[in-house]
Amino acid sequence: MLRVRLHGRGGQGIKTASQVLGTAAFLSGFQAQDFPLYGAERRGAPIVAFTRIDKEPILERGPIAIPDLILVGDETLLEDSQAAPICGADALTTLLVNSEKDPKDLREKQLLPTVPVTFELTKLCLKHLNAGMILSTALAAAAARLTGMIPLENLIEAVEIELADIPPEKLRKNLDLVREVFELLDPVVFKEREEGEYSPSRLMILEQKEVRDAAPLITATGNMNLRKTGNWRIHRPEIDFEECNHCMICYARCPEGVIKEDVEGKPEIDYDHCKGCMICAQECPKHAIKTLWEMDYEPQSQ
Ligand code: SF4
Ligand code: SF4
Repeated sequence: MLRVRLHGRGGQGIKTASQVLGTAAFLSGFQAQDFPLYGAERRGAPIVAFTRIDKEPILERGPIAIPDLILVGDETLLEDSQAAPICGADALTTLLVNSEKDPKDLREKQLLPTVPVTFELTKLCLKHLNAGMILSTALAAAAARLTGMIPLENLIEAVEIELADIPPEKLRKNLDLVREVFELLDPVVFKEREEGEYSPSRLMILEQKEVRDAAPLITATGNMNLRKTGNWRIHRPEIDFEECNHCMICYARCPEGVIKEDVEGKPEIDYDHCKGCMICAQECPKHAIKTLWEMDYEPQSQ
């Protein structure tokens, strides 16, 4: 069985990527199972989705603890201990990260168990879709190609099935993207894990837990501030004070309430909690808020 885990953020199409991969595998003659896991949070929150592919019926259920293939759609997740995209990876795991960094540098910096494949999916999405945030078909194409089990024509058919509701022109652009991603990657040879190496039994018996054990119980008050959602950001808003006229419209429109007025009456962004939705940039009448890539941002030394 090939176990694939896809990590990304809400809005990036991670669930759709796992669906396209599952459908493409099914069209290629395999059994497939795909499903996402996400909490109550919204755009920007870490999301994980799973796809299992096998020649035999798949009796295994639940999240994949030891993946053969991990795809990380957003590099910032590598530093998010709650998303933990590398959890369960070992030397047999193939890891693809949407990044332009050198694979060896990334492995060293993030203490990865294996040298990752780094691949600039965002740039390809921008080129074809003019949207670097929507990674669904690109991630599915990368996963399908790396498995070496799925022919391009089956992947194309899977995209047509799963994205049947989008306008034809958008679908065409997604198919061009899929073809390019497929062309640029090479399949990986996966070593089959020994029976029992993954789990003691082919059928996992899920135990019914008490509700209090199954979900976190929050008893403290006023602790929302401790959850630093700033590391969810893909884009970083930066105010150009040469242009800003201090109208504070951004303060009023920020859905997270993370823009405040400083002592001089100027807007100040709380980057510990700003999620990078960029609504402030769209709403600013002076176009004074620039959109930067978070991964390109170098903090100034004090
Ligand atoms: S909306 Fe634009 S011009 Fe107004 S305070 Fe915010 S950044 Fe400045
Ligand atoms: S990007 Fe702008 S609107 Fe969105 S959370 Fe950050 S400060 Fe608020």
